[in-house]
Amino acid sequence: MSRVATQVANVKLLIDGEFVESKSTQWRDVVNPATQVVLARVPFATADEVDAAVAAAKRAFVTWRKTPIGARARIFLKYQQLIRENMAELAAILTAEQGKTLPDAEGDVFRGLEVVEHAAAIGNLQLGELANNVAGGVDTYTLLQPLGVCAGITPFNFPAMIPLWMFPMAIATGNTFVLKPSEQDPMVTMRLVELALEAGVPKGVLNVVHGGEDVVNAICDHADIKAVSFVGSTRVGTHVYNRASLAGKRVQCMMGAKNHAVVLPDANKEQTLNALVGAAFGAAGQRCMAASTAVLVGDAQAWIPDLVARARTLKVNAGIEPGTDVGPVISCAARERVEGFIGDGVREGATLELDGRKPDVAGYENGNFIGPTIFSGVTPGMRIYDEEIFGPVLVLLTAESLDAAIALINANPNGNGTALFTQSGAAARRFQEEIDVGQVGINVPIPVPVPLFSFTGSRASKLGDLGPYGKQVVMFYTQTKTVTQRWFDDDTLHVGVNTTISL
Ligand code: NAD
Repeated sequence: MSRVATQVANVKLLIDGEFVESKSTQWRDVVNPATQVVLARVPFATADEVDAAVAAAKRAFVTWRKTPIGARARIFLKYQQLIRENMAELAAILTAEQGKTLPDAEGDVFRGLEVVEHAAAIGNLQLGELANNVAGGVDTYTLLQPLGVCAGITPFNFPAMIPLWMFPMAIATGNTFVLKPSEQDPMVTMRLVELALEAGVPKGVLNVVHGGEDVVNAICDHADIKAVSFVGSTRVGTHVYNRASLAGKRVQCMMGAKNHAVVLPDANKEQTLNALVGAAFGAAGQRCMAASTAVLVGDAQAWIPDLVARARTLKVNAGIEPGTDVGPVISCAARERVEGFIGDGVREGATLELDGRKPDVAGYENGNFIGPTIFSGVTPGMRIYDEEIFGPVLVLLTAESLDAAIALINANPNGNGTALFTQSGAAARRFQEEIDVGQVGINVPIPVPVPLFSFTGSRASKLGDLGPYGKQVVMFYTQTKTVTQRWFDDDTLHVGVNTTISL
């Protein structure tokens, strides 16, 4: 945390269509994790600024909710085009502040862009139902109406994709929005917000406040906010769910993970090892869908040396350097945390097959780098198994059978993603049926659903019924109103007063 300084750009708030400088006295540096260069300063917005953003969104809702579907859809058609045209710039900002490689940064933007494309199809998504003649001359139909002001709170690891999970669908369904991006890397989010305004999102319909705990609590408590979408850790998400629900809001929280990949001995070895290494160490393991845990069943346990050899070939470097596989983790604190986990793993008796601590990265000696790290002999009860590490650390467990692997996964508190590697359709179907996890991949290491479907999760990975994007989020961001109507066109239908419950 630092006092206001003028050397670097200050990240602005967006209130009522204007990018404004916060009056806060609390600011934080946005730091390039590969170099420690300060890129900008981000404010922790004041309570008045949060109120002003919500008030602007509330005013804008009065007209925005009545905007025709076509007008809303065309904004998102334009928006997806602008994101495509600015892809290289967006990825460069993202890599500078978040650390992931440039191709992976483009992937981050692209997975959000897919949701924007989906929002452009809102006319086909926000449809009610109608039943003709539910009684004589009576029809019943539903309206899916926007809720009002909705808010979104996002994590650092996908600063493009996750904000784009939220505000395009909320706005396309007729709501107005207050976004609270991660304070660690808000710059690409702000560039995306600028492009949204350029695409035609009217003033007050999208607002942005920055900050941490206080701003998040203000959002949870605010009487004029009707729904809150959160993506981040289980600890914070549980707090947001409880606090915002108590204040009467709809809440959806997508939270932490410990994703298990199960490898059966009949799997295609080459493809499986490549998939595992990519899914464990890509984005330096800072994906909620990272395959951070592998369960090797039976003879697949003999593949450990080959897995380690493959991980050893990955290139650790700054995200802007061509050919980089693993960039830095987000902050010095994150690097220390992950190194702490590695130390604990050694102390607790796991076998450190590959130690990525303190890699040499020429030209980036100050970066928050940790190379691929692999532990074998890991068991429940060890901290490296029980907690989400969120770094480039893969822990290997063994199981004697598919059923034992399923039991292990279902006993873990988290239920975000999982994958099975096998050539057996029967095993795959058994896994799909028995596993209690939201995203299930069969020979697909990171099965993040495209926006025709919704992201989901079980147990400690999700609170709230409905997930982000896809059909579910249309239900989340709308109130179903059920209308039953009768029109009298013939006086003879009048049958007098009826005090029974029939139509
Ligand atoms: P985080 O929980 O620390 O932060 C998320 C948001 O909450 C940020 O906007 C932050 O400012 C705010 N926040 C932080 N501390 C707070 C507090 N004490 N009170 C109120 N608000 C607070 O998460 P992160 O470190 O930014 O992101 C990594 C986590 O997000 C991992 O656990 C990862 O698994 C999870 N994640 C989950 C999904 C999913 O879809 N399930 C997707 C991406 C990330």
